[in-house]
Amino acid sequence: MTLSIAIIGAGPAGYYTAEAAQKMWGNGARIDIIDRLPTPYGLIRAGVAPDHQSIKAVTKRYEATNLAPNTRLVGNVMVGRDVSVDELLGLYDAVVLSVGAPLDKPIGIPGDDLPGVVGSAAFVGWYNGHPDHAGLAVDLSHHGAAIIGNGNVAIDCARILAKTVDELAGTDIAGHALDVLSRSAVRDVHIVGRRGPHQASFTTKEAGELGHLTRAHPIVKPGDLPPVEEDAALEPGHRKMVTHLRGFAGLERGDKPVTINFEFFRRPVAVEGQHKAERLIVETTRLEDGRAVGTGELHAIPCGLVIACIGYRTQAIPGVNWSDALGRFPTDAAGRIAPGLYASGWARRGPSGTIGTNRPDGFSVIEAMVADGIAASAKAGPDGLDALLASRGVSPTDFSGWQKIEAAEVAGARPGAPREKITDIAAMLAAI
Ligand code: NAP
Repeated sequence: MTLSIAIIGAGPAGYYTAEAAQKMWGNGARIDIIDRLPTPYGLIRAGVAPDHQSIKAVTKRYEATNLAPNTRLVGNVMVGRDVSVDELLGLYDAVVLSVGAPLDKPIGIPGDDLPGVVGSAAFVGWYNGHPDHAGLAVDLSHHGAAIIGNGNVAIDCARILAKTVDELAGTDIAGHALDVLSRSAVRDVHIVGRRGPHQASFTTKEAGELGHLTRAHPIVKPGDLPPVEEDAALEPGHRKMVTHLRGFAGLERGDKPVTINFEFFRRPVAVEGQHKAERLIVETTRLEDGRAVGTGELHAIPCGLVIACIGYRTQAIPGVNWSDALGRFPTDAAGRIAPGLYASGWARRGPSGTIGTNRPDGFSVIEAMVADGIAASAKAGPDGLDALLASRGVSPTDFSGWQKIEAAEVAGARPGAPREKITDIAAMLAAI
C-alpha cells in the first residue's frame, strides 16, 4: 500500500506542500496536485507582476517537484464541479486545500457597482492573462485612476499603469493588456490609504521602485508624514520603506508626465459618475489608537478607473466548512479542517506574506498529518481518481500538457519577451 495525498491548487502553497510530502515520505507517497486550469503555478503566473520576472524563477523549483516520479499535475479538473471533496477524501489518505484566495474583498461603498470599478484580483488577472479575467473591459480613457489600499498589490497596479510600453514590452504582460496600456490616457494615479505612511504595508523594494520610473513621478504630501523621530520606533525594514516615502516628499518633479499621488489619511466613501466611474469620494481621516476615524471632510478624486486593492477571499467549496467572517476555511493552528482534510497557504492563513511564507506553511501541514497518524491505506488513490473522472467524461491534463502550452507560449512571444500567455482554456487544450 502507498500513501496517497491530493493537493488542490497548483500554486506556491500546493507545490510547497507537495515538496514537504516528498521530503517526508519520498517514494512512499503518491501525490496528485489538482488544478482547475491546465496551467500550474497559481499566483506566480497570474498574480506576481509581469515586470518582476526574477520572482517567477521559483517555478523551476516547483517544476522539479512536479517532475518527481511519484507526483502528478491533474489539470483542468475543478474540485466542487468535476469531483467533490468528499469523494477525494474517499480516494486519498489526506486532502489539502491550497486553493488560495482568488476573490476580491468587496469595497462596500455606494457606486462600487459602476463600470470602471474593479477589484485587484480582476485587474491583476487581466494584465497577467488569467482566463477568468482576460476579457475584462479596462477603460483607460480618463486622465485619473484611483487605487484603494496601501499594500504591495496597490503598488503593483500603480506601477503597471505608470510604466511606458517600452518598460513593459520585455515582460510577460498579456498582449491584450499591453495594447490597452499603450493607448492609456491615465496621467494621475492616486494610491488611497485610509491610514498613514507608518501604517502602510508596502515593502521597501516595492515602494522604492516608484522613484525610478521613466515617465512617472511619485508624490507624497510632506504634511502626511509623521515627525521623523517617530520612525525610530519602526522595525528596520519598515523604517527603510518610510524613508523612501520621505524621499518622495522632497523630489523635484522634472518633466515626467505621469504622477503617482500617495493619498494618505483618506477613506473611500463613494464612487460617483453618471453611467460609469467619474470620481472617487474620500473622507479625510485621523488616527485614533491606530484606527482610521473619519473627520467629515470630503474630497473628490477625478478618475475613470477605481481599483480596490484591499485584500482577497477564498472561494468556498461545497461540503467544506467555510467562514464568511474570515473569508476562508476555518482551521486550527496547524491547518486542520476535518479528519484527513487540511489547508495550506492563503486558504489557511488569509492573503498575507510573501511567496516564501507558504513554504513553512506547507511543511507544517505535512507535520500535522504525521502527528495525526495519516498512513497508507487501501484507498484507491490516483488510480481511483482517474477512473472516477473517466466515468464522468472529464479529461484531465498533465504536466507534459503544460510543457506543450509553455512551448507554444515561448514560441509566440513578442521580441524580447519571455512568453505570450495563452489566456483561453480552449486554446490551451488545443496547444496540448
Ligand atoms: P495588504 O498588504 O494586506 O494591503 C491591503 C490594504 O488594503 C491595506 O492598506 C488596508 O488598510 C487596505 N484596506 C483593507 N480594507 C479596506 C477598506 N475597506 N477601505 C480602504 N482600505 C482598505 O494586501 P495586498 O496589497 O492585497 O497584498 C497581499 C499580500 O501579498 C501581502 O502580504 C503583500 O505583501 C503580498 N504581495 C507581495 C508582493 C511583493 O512582494 N512584490 C506583491 C504583491 C503582493 P489597513 O492597513 O488600514 O487595513
